[in-house]
Amino acid sequence: MKFGTKAIHAGVSPDPSTGAIMTPIFQTSTYVQKSPGDHLGYEYSRTHNPTRTALQNSLAALENGKHGLCFSSGLGAIDAVVKLFNPGDEIISTSDLYGGTYRLFTKVFERYGIKFHFVSMADPESLTAYVNEKTKMVWVETPTNPMMNIIDLKAMAAFSKKHGLLLAVDNTFASPYLQNPLDLGADIVMHSVTKYLGGHSDVVMGALVVKDDELASKLAFLQNACGATPGPQDCFLVLRGIKTLHLRMERHCQNGKTIAAYLKNHPKVDKVYWPGFEDHPNHDVARAQMRDFGGMISFTLVGNQLEDAKKVMESFHLFSLAESLGGVESLCGHPASMTHASIPREEREKVGLVDSLIRLSVGVEDAEDLKNDLAKALAKI
Ligand SMILES: *Cc1c(COP(=O)(O)O)cnc(C)c1O
Repeated sequence: MKFGTKAIHAGVSPDPSTGAIMTPIFQTSTYVQKSPGDHLGYEYSRTHNPTRTALQNSLAALENGKHGLCFSSGLGAIDAVVKLFNPGDEIISTSDLYGGTYRLFTKVFERYGIKFHFVSMADPESLTAYVNEKTKMVWVETPTNPMMNIIDLKAMAAFSKKHGLLLAVDNTFASPYLQNPLDLGADIVMHSVTKYLGGHSDVVMGALVVKDDELASKLAFLQNACGATPGPQDCFLVLRGIKTLHLRMERHCQNGKTIAAYLKNHPKVDKVYWPGFEDHPNHDVARAQMRDFGGMISFTLVGNQLEDAKKVMESFHLFSLAESLGGVESLCGHPASMTHASIPREEREKVGLVDSLIRLSVGVEDAEDLKNDLAKALAKI
């Protein structure tokens, strides 16, 4: 089955008791048993819920995996992955990392004796220096936030295999429409479902997809034992969102391309970070591992003044200033003061995260209107 057909049909089937074409919201905590242990496969909704099962199967299909597991947030999903390991174990992670993941790793799991190495992944071979007998996993995010760097997943998979490490990929920015890390050799794919998969800015949820049965059962154990599971109403909303994932992503990509090109030619814009540009440093890798280039764009202003960036963001009508991304509506954010405020200025400036950097999550509105919104806001400086 091709992607669009899977988005609509995979994992779901009409409800056998009524014929309802849409998976019902099974708003129940428990399930009646005929006799102790004699049940229909469902005992308690933390462990299993039919609405969640449908969503988990849909996500597994979209990522070309075998097992999907949903969590109450993206961070809940990452939490379960790290709980596979023991005190003393070591994890190598991308340095260019979602702030919440960095906080979970350093402020929570380091207290439990897990050691993290945050490194640039531009050259996989340079990671060898961080491998020892305690190393267990490599954690990758690509494209990265907000600098839109691309990490070569095939190369990272080869490196991980060679050293007997698990490779986990946070695929939130790409969504399963643009990139399928399991096909490139990853062991675990993670999503903040909150973003493109949900797609309508109305749900917070996370997910993991794996191929391996044993790894899946370890993660399912943690999902149930630690209990960060989503409710059926949220699962329903994401099932609904997924039905248009391919259509939304096509438009996000189209609009992304239009807006990136517009910004690149604007006299008040300095740098534009978007992997679809041929002069993007990792363009060839992006072209090889992604289906298209997405709607996430970062840009800086000529003169690099914080006041100018603020004025532009305050002047937008269509790009709402808000955390998050991947919804149908366009958003803008200011990494230096919002998502990456806790990183010291010197550190963030080294990677290009300067005061005037603005991040856009380009939505699925009409591109002409989005361009006009940008034109008017940039005219204010
Ligand atoms: C939002 C996000 C997360 C965290 O997901 P939540 O659903 O907010 O817990 C993790 N990784 C990336 C790349 C994100 O954008």
